[in-house]
Amino acid sequence: MNWLDKDKEYIWHPFTPLLGVADPLCVTSASGVYLHTEDGRKIIDANSSWWVNIHGHAHPFIAEKVSEQAKTLEHVIFAGFTHKPAISLAENLLSILPKNQSKIFYSDNGSTSIEVALKMAFQFWYNQGLNKKRVIAIDGAYHGDTFGSMSVGERSDFTKPFTEHLFEVEFVDFPTEANKASVLERFKNLIDSNEFASFIFEPIIQGASGMRIYDATLLDQMIQYAQNNSVICIADEVMTGFGRTGKLFASDYLKYKPDIICLSKGLTGGTMALGVTSCTNAIVDAYMSKDLYKTFLHGHSFTANPIACASANASFELLMKQECQDNIQRITSQHERFKQKHEHTSKLKDIRSLGTILAIEFETENDSSYFSEMRNQLYPFFLERNILLRPLGNLIYIIPPYVISNDELEKVYAAIEEFFTSL
Ligand SMILES: *Cc1c(COP(=O)(O)O)cnc(C)c1O
Repeated sequence: MNWLDKDKEYIWHPFTPLLGVADPLCVTSASGVYLHTEDGRKIIDANSSWWVNIHGHAHPFIAEKVSEQAKTLEHVIFAGFTHKPAISLAENLLSILPKNQSKIFYSDNGSTSIEVALKMAFQFWYNQGLNKKRVIAIDGAYHGDTFGSMSVGERSDFTKPFTEHLFEVEFVDFPTEANKASVLERFKNLIDSNEFASFIFEPIIQGASGMRIYDATLLDQMIQYAQNNSVICIADEVMTGFGRTGKLFASDYLKYKPDIICLSKGLTGGTMALGVTSCTNAIVDAYMSKDLYKTFLHGHSFTANPIACASANASFELLMKQECQDNIQRITSQHERFKQKHEHTSKLKDIRSLGTILAIEFETENDSSYFSEMRNQLYPFFLERNILLRPLGNLIYIIPPYVISNDELEKVYAAIEEFFTSL
C-alpha cells in the first residue's frame, strides 16, 4: 500500500466525512508560511494550521529550544514535582496578561483550558457553600469539543447528536448595534437572579461562528455588571491570544478585566499541544485550604509538559520582539486596506477585520451555515491555487502566521478577488 492508502485504511481525520471527500494532502515538511507536500507543491498556510501557528512553520529558534529540552527533561509528573520551563512560562505569561491575573493552571489544549476554567468557577462557589451553579454564554459561542466546552457553546449541527447530554446554559443574543440595549437588559436580569456561577465569552470576536466582531464597550458593561454582582467572568482567549487581534490579548481592549483567562492555540507558536487557564487571587483564595475536599482535583497526564513549556517560552521570546509586533501591525493595516477597497464590492455580504484576522462573507441564495454548498466551491478553489483557506460555510477568513510577507498576502488577496469576480 502507498501512504495515502494506508492513511485511508488506518486513520480517522477530524471534522471529515469518511466517504466522498478529496484525499488529504501528505505534507512532508514546512517552513515559514509554506507547507511542502509529497508531490512537490508549496502551499501558503493562510489558516495558520487551525489558527495555531503564529511565527511560521518549523521556526529554527523554537526547534532548537524544543530539541534542547527533549534532551534534558522530556516529561515529569506535575503533582509533587515542578520544573523551570513551567515556572518561566508562568512568569512570562503573567508579565503580559492583564495585571489582575495571578496564577497559572496548565492543561493540554483549548478545550481542556475551558474545562478547567468552568470547573474552577463552579468549585469556587461550592467551596464557600454557595448555591451558584448556572452559566451564561453568548449565542454562537464555540469553546471546544469536549462535553463541558460543548455545553457552553452554541447548540448547532455539530452538537446535535449530543444535545441531551449537555448541561443547560443560558444564552444571550449575539450583540449587534441594533440589539445592544436589549442584550444588556436581559443579561442584567439573568445576573440579578443570583443563580449564576460564571459568564463565559470569546472577547470581542467569536471565531468558529464566523469571525464575528462585537462591541468592546458593551462587553465591558456586561463584565462590570457581572463582577459587581459576584459572577465570575471567563474570557476564552484560545483564538484571540498572542497578538491575533492586534493587541497581545483581546482583553487588552477592555477596561474591566476577566477573572479567568483561557489560552492555547498560539501559545507554543503552533509547535506543541498546551493549554493554560489563568486566574485572579480572588479565585485562588477560595481554594487556600489544607482540606482535600476544597482542593482543585483536576489534572492531565501531560500537564505542563516541559517540551511544550519550552516551545511556549521560545514563542513568547519571538512574540515580544519588535520585529514580530511590527509584523502584526503591518498585517493589520494590509487587511484594513483590502477591507476598504472592497467595502462596496457586490456579491460580498460583509467584509470585516480585526488585527491579523480578515473575514469575507459571500451572498448565498440558500443555506449560510457551515453546511452551506458554497464551502465545496471555496475550499478547492484556493487549494488549486496553492493557498490553504478553510471556509466556514459561505465565509472565508485569513488568519496568517505573522511572518507572512506583503507579497504572500497579496497573492492571497488576489486569489480572493479572482474568486469573487468568478461569481
Ligand atoms: C479552537 C478553540 C477552542 C478549542 O481549542 P482546542 O485546542 O481545539 O480544543 C476553544 N475556544 C476557542 C475560542 C477556539 O477557537
